[in-house]
Amino acid sequence: MNRSRKLGKFSVGVGDRFAHQARAQLQACVEARENGVEVEPVWNKSNREHIIIGSEPGSVRQAAAAAVKALGWTAPYSCDADHITVETVGRFLEACDFFTIDVAEFIGHAAPAAEIDGFVGRHSELKGRIELPGADGAIEITSEKLRETAQKFLAAVKKAGVVYRTIENAKGAGAFISEISMDETDRAQSPAELLIILAAIADEGIPVQTIAPKFSGRFNKGVDYVGDTGQFEREMALDVAAIAYAVWQYGLPENLKLSIHSGSDKFSIYPAIHATMKRFNAGVHLKTAGTTWLEELIGLAEAGGNGLALAKEVYTEALAHREELCAPYAAVIDIDPAKLPSAAEVQGWSSEQYTSALRHVEGAAAYNPSLRQLLHVGFKIAAQMGRRYLDMLEANEAVIAKNVTENLYLRHIAPVFLGTNGDAVTERRTQELLPTEKA
Ligand SMILES: [Zn+2]
Repeated sequence: MNRSRKLGKFSVGVGDRFAHQARAQLQACVEARENGVEVEPVWNKSNREHIIIGSEPGSVRQAAAAAVKALGWTAPYSCDADHITVETVGRFLEACDFFTIDVAEFIGHAAPAAEIDGFVGRHSELKGRIELPGADGAIEITSEKLRETAQKFLAAVKKAGVVYRTIENAKGAGAFISEISMDETDRAQSPAELLIILAAIADEGIPVQTIAPKFSGRFNKGVDYVGDTGQFEREMALDVAAIAYAVWQYGLPENLKLSIHSGSDKFSIYPAIHATMKRFNAGVHLKTAGTTWLEELIGLAEAGGNGLALAKEVYTEALAHREELCAPYAAVIDIDPAKLPSAAEVQGWSSEQYTSALRHVEGAAAYNPSLRQLLHVGFKIAAQMGRRYLDMLEANEAVIAKNVTENLYLRHIAPVFLGTNGDAVTERRTQELLPTEKA
């Protein structure tokens, strides 16, 4: 086992719900490397996804290891136990070496008064105006704000400590990467709050390498960012500067960086993310997940015949079970039922009609974000098809892999980590990728 696992500066979290696309996903990191940027792949899957699919964490490790072997990938990679808590961490201990400790549900739970007093007393350096090198603004923290923030977050950070030590006891210190996530909550954390939270994390002795705050604006699943992109950029700059300050002030791991959850398809903020990384010479972990499953559907539809028929069947069933499929994701999707085509209409669609409705091309006339979000949460339908779905994936592997690689590399990795516009080169690269795919 690799001791002292250290996550690289640039990393991408990918989700592979049916454990069939790890190789196509890794190919996107190979493309990044060929273009001069090392982007470390992390395969993430949450307990919720494992339950819906009926899979075990070991299957993620197996698929990742097979992909790494097949492509001769010698750089690091990890398997992320995504959004785990003290209740769910157990089944992930063996297979994973990256743990996203989710403490969102404990935000707002009060810590004992003595602990709050102790924290506030220990951290007088946080009071007042803190200049952040490289950032346009400073952070101002009053005594009241410091106490209030400790009251809101200290219990959650203590919980993270409990989960961290559970993992450390099982795997040994340094044998895994720790992330702390607070994104699945109702209110965004400000840069000042992030700094106070990092002080508490350092007190708790957690060598956190990535932190996932909730940013302002909406990060819906599989569709673009909704919010003020200028505000996002200012907030991210202060967050990055606050992290650098916390690393210096509290001795947190020097590779500590932001993790951006529900990071897939946030095309309108990718330029801001890239510019901020450049400005501060900082890294980012871009966590994507369910869009690979949508690329499977796009590939099947593109294949025509039985593949297209199955993609239509998934839509028909998803439409029939819309409410039940959407319920667990209510906070992170926005579907307009009036915009969903009827099952009968979709039955009559060509490959081109299906893929252009599903493919996320902002501004394209046929793109339908409601349909895309419904199918995004509709993976349970494919899971219920079981072997029939997997056989179809295997029969159409080449066309699906092409879509998975291209989507991940051109539309996500290139704009975020290389700062190039994926859309502009999509057409050309599609042609280039085809022969590679067959090789
Ligand atoms: Zn998340």
